[in-house]
Amino acid sequence: MSFNREDYKNVKISFDMRREKAALEAEERKEQVCAKLPEMKKICASLEETGPKVYYAALEGKEDYEQRLNNIKYETETLLKRQRELLLSNGYPEDYLDIKYRCPLCRDEGNINGKMCACMRAELIKAGYESAGIAGLCGKMNFDTFDLSYYTGEDRQNMELVLQKAKEYAESFCGVGSGSMLFFGGTGLGKTHLSVAVTKRVIERGYYCVYTTSDKLFSDLREERFRSADDTSPSKTAKYGECELLVVDDLGTELNGRDIVPFLYSLLNQRINSGASTVISTNLSHRELLAVYDERIVSRLFGEFLPYKFTGKDVRMQKLQF
Ligand SMILES: [Zn+2]
Repeated sequence: MSFNREDYKNVKISFDMRREKAALEAEERKEQVCAKLPEMKKICASLEETGPKVYYAALEGKEDYEQRLNNIKYETETLLKRQRELLLSNGYPEDYLDIKYRCPLCRDEGNINGKMCACMRAELIKAGYESAGIAGLCGKMNFDTFDLSYYTGEDRQNMELVLQKAKEYAESFCGVGSGSMLFFGGTGLGKTHLSVAVTKRVIERGYYCVYTTSDKLFSDLREERFRSADDTSPSKTAKYGECELLVVDDLGTELNGRDIVPFLYSLLNQRINSGASTVISTNLSHRELLAVYDERIVSRLFGEFLPYKFTGKDVRMQKLQF
């Protein structure tokens, strides 16, 4: 489990900035109250001495150290109590000077005793939807919104099984060695829906995923192919090789892809050989795929990927008729 490294870096930076901002705002509130209340200014100044007092108490040796420490503790508590009273009697909330962390559990550190806090995990998931390319899709297309009532008879039985297998795949995904799936069948049968749903769930479980349409993948591969040697901009295709799960939707719909097929083959090969997982959906049949791609690609797709056939009547057409 490793999330997307780039997302992790960005989320970490946003947590650091959040902490700094919260501390700065608390400092501003303190200055504002101290300017208004002279007694508060004195209390704050005394409280700032607590750290040095503890330090010097230790330097004075072991004798009566405990007692000196208890005295400092008592003084501090008394000052804090008076601080709260002053705030309340002047119309401020008693925690007005506290640093207001967005997450009080981890104090915006993102982890508690070395374990990732739920707040950071949630942010990483949100960032994961964005960077995987499903942020705009996964609200509508997830396992909860997959409606089996559009399928009847044998198709319903088949699609119940396909849905169950897709869920099992997403729930048991564990990075390298998780296997690959091929979704095939006519248009409007829910292949994109389940491709996005699998991506979403695998991201939520903490893995680095990339979702792309075949058209986008081909255009990125083409751009990489014709990239000049002195172009130092970040590669658009590196993520397709690096991610733990690559989901390619609608293979076969790309325009003019012949020249790119060898690059697709090499990408798929590289992923298969390293044990990385790929989910591919296509409207094309085995025979139609053979007409478009190399036999090597088609045999790898049907040989290495677990194939699931989507059956039924075009759901989009059914929706239009309601
Ligand atoms: Zn937290």
